[in-house]
Amino acid sequence: TSNPSGLATIAAIATPLGRGGVGVIRLSGARAYDIACQLTGKTAFIPRMASFCRFYQADGTIVDEGLVLYFKGPHSFTGEDVIELQGHGGMILQNQLLARVFELGAKQAGAGEFSYRAFDNDKLDLVQAEAIADAIDATSAAAASSAIRSLSGEFSQKINQLLEQLIHLRLHVEAAIDFPDEEDVDFLSDGVIQDKLEQTQDKIQQVLATAKQGQLLRDGIHVVLAGRPNAGKSSLLNRLAGQERAIVTNVAGTTRDTLQETVVLNGLTLHLTDTAGLRDTDDTVERIGIERARTAITQADMLLMVYDVSRDLAEDSTPLQLAEQLFGKLPDAKKLLIIANKSDLLTDAHDKAQKANSQNEITQRGYEQVNVSCETGAGIETLIETLCAKVGFHPPENSLIARTRHIDALRRTAGHLTEAHEQLTVFQAGELVAESLRQAQLSLGEITGEFSADDLLGKIFGSFCIGK
Ligand code: GDP
Ligand code: ZN
Repeated sequence: TSNPSGLATIAAIATPLGRGGVGVIRLSGARAYDIACQLTGKTAFIPRMASFCRFYQADGTIVDEGLVLYFKGPHSFTGEDVIELQGHGGMILQNQLLARVFELGAKQAGAGEFSYRAFDNDKLDLVQAEAIADAIDATSAAAASSAIRSLSGEFSQKINQLLEQLIHLRLHVEAAIDFPDEEDVDFLSDGVIQDKLEQTQDKIQQVLATAKQGQLLRDGIHVVLAGRPNAGKSSLLNRLAGQERAIVTNVAGTTRDTLQETVVLNGLTLHLTDTAGLRDTDDTVERIGIERARTAITQADMLLMVYDVSRDLAEDSTPLQLAEQLFGKLPDAKKLLIIANKSDLLTDAHDKAQKANSQNEITQRGYEQVNVSCETGAGIETLIETLCAKVGFHPPENSLIARTRHIDALRRTAGHLTEAHEQLTVFQAGELVAESLRQAQLSLGEITGEFSADDLLGKIFGSFCIGK
């Protein structure tokens, strides 16, 4: 068997614990094959062939029966010898089988340890390992499919192409430093390096744009809903939830006045918090409620203010003033979307004129308002489109899942390239250009894990669940 590295053979239940037709225990490491032989009494397994076996206790009694699958390293998920035991699902059976596997010498796998070994043995890069976790945890079909695309290596490929481009550029700069003014040609200022550098900068911006979409897809946005009682906040939540089937309700069986709700609209996941709900709670917890509402407001990506057009505005007050009251201060135009609800109740000309006036003030000051009726559904589509446009989310077609970590590394890379550009064009400082490019390469390499500190790796894999 392979893996002479002395790492322990690890094992864990790979399927969710609970009742199920099949439960899988996965083993990885040098002793996996041996343990499977002792467990089943068989003397050999053929790689990639399923063998039907009985799983025995030390005293010869049967724990369970099922299939053994053998993947011989390095042709396995982790790159080590891997054994999969497919027994019956069920807590007792699975735990007994796992205990027996431990008795035979395997150790409990830590969180993300299988994926870490795969990464360590170059079976996966960091982006792909993260994509496994993201695919499993995806809250929308779009997020799941883009995670699978990242897992297949599409995102890594983009990063690797960029890395190659950067390395190429570094070689040019190093050569220009080593051979200055050769045959009266000044490599640094002949424009070739500058062209290449600018091409690389463009490419980074493209990848960054893709990654931002991918991050929105993965993490969604946090939205706070505010409005006077009876403005129609709960009705709006119901309407939004009704737009797509994939709705996750935190409080089972309720759609009215839940504090938090996750809704997926056009592929964008919205984590909605109803601040009114927070304020409505018992007096004793009201203070905590208000505190939590404030935190939610400061952390929100988007604030939605719902008001009842037939009632919520006194003669001379405006939606912006109402927003100021509700949020404590007038939010930034980028962060606020005003929703004029119950448009179906506006009938007479006076009402409509007043509404037009407030609309004017809003647009003049750079804010946006959508008119809807949660009763009839009018304007809801426009509301969703406006919201997606405001956060810069385009309904995904070929998007790739991405994390804040990736965006951060791409931004730092772009920053180093900007430095390099300045050092080249303003100062013609070759040594400094070379150093900035080196930094850029290091930042970019963090994404796939080519250059990653151990503590970063620990953090990433530690957030995976056990058995992954
Ligand atoms: P919340 O207190 O802000 O959550 O408001 P609700 O969603 O509970 O709505 C308060 C009342 O307004 C309910 O009776 C709703 O049926 C009604 N309502 C909500 N939206 C509309 C609308 O667009 N048109 C009309 N006519 N009534 C609405
Ligand atoms: Zn409500």
